[in-house]
Amino acid sequence: MKRQKLRKLLLIISLLLFPVTLYYFSPALIINGALNGIINGSFIVFMLMFLMAIPFGRVFCGYLCPAGGLQECTFAVNDKYPKQGWKNRIKYVVWIVWIAAVIACYILGANITAVDFFFETTGGISVANVQSYIIYYGIILLIFVPAVLFGKRVFCHYFCWMAPFMVLGTKLRRVLRLPGLHIKVKDKSACIACGKCDRECPMGVKVTEAVAQGQIRSMECIQCGACVDGCPRKVLAYGWRDGMYEK
Ligand code: SF4
Ligand code: SF4
Ligand code: SF4
Repeated sequence: MKRQKLRKLLLIISLLLFPVTLYYFSPALIINGALNGIINGSFIVFMLMFLMAIPFGRVFCGYLCPAGGLQECTFAVNDKYPKQGWKNRIKYVVWIVWIAAVIACYILGANITAVDFFFETTGGISVANVQSYIIYYGIILLIFVPAVLFGKRVFCHYFCWMAPFMVLGTKLRRVLRLPGLHIKVKDKSACIACGKCDRECPMGVKVTEAVAQGQIRSMECIQCGACVDGCPRKVLAYGWRDGMYEK
């Protein structure tokens, strides 16, 4: 379980740094950047999320995201799983509309003249004035309240505009059949169907069913390793190459 403690510590540190990093995840600043002909910080961060997901999947969500950390803090208040299914697709609809707006702004706005990672921050810090505080607490409420009302990581499932970048990166890896970080089923015959992996999973992946099928392929998996570390029979493990493309 040491790995899970380290993971939670990283998420808490990331959450504490959120007032600094907020604008580097902003879906609005990229549009301001586009209209001013600037490649801004969130543009670069979103591109890195896509590129890093090719080898590492959604590990950012499991270990580094401040919004993920905020939601995991609410597990003590509401540890139910939100309903999944068609609602998980809301984030893709939101993403397509938003990314179309970003592309349109880059095409119709000023010619790209600069790369400014710190665009519209104050010395690199996001929350540095009263207006930014209002935005900050608005975002905190947007993430926090649904998690309290509807359960574990509901913002990740339904609304996150960053998740699709990582899902696309992971899908690209699968199409190209490249090796990459994933959770592999080492020995499904050792599984005793105790269901602990299902209960440990912060994303509500049906791990037991996936084990029976021999593979975890859910795009909701954030490679947090809670199922790996919680399994009493060591059925699961992190993998890099093996077992990814078996039927
Ligand atoms: S889905 Fe979005 S909010 Fe959730 S952990 Fe990933 S990047 Fe953060
Ligand atoms: S399936 Fe395992 S690694 Fe994936 S999100 Fe669930 S607990 Fe984490
Ligand atoms: S925790 Fe391990 S043994 Fe229990 S159901 Fe999951 S994979 Fe099987």
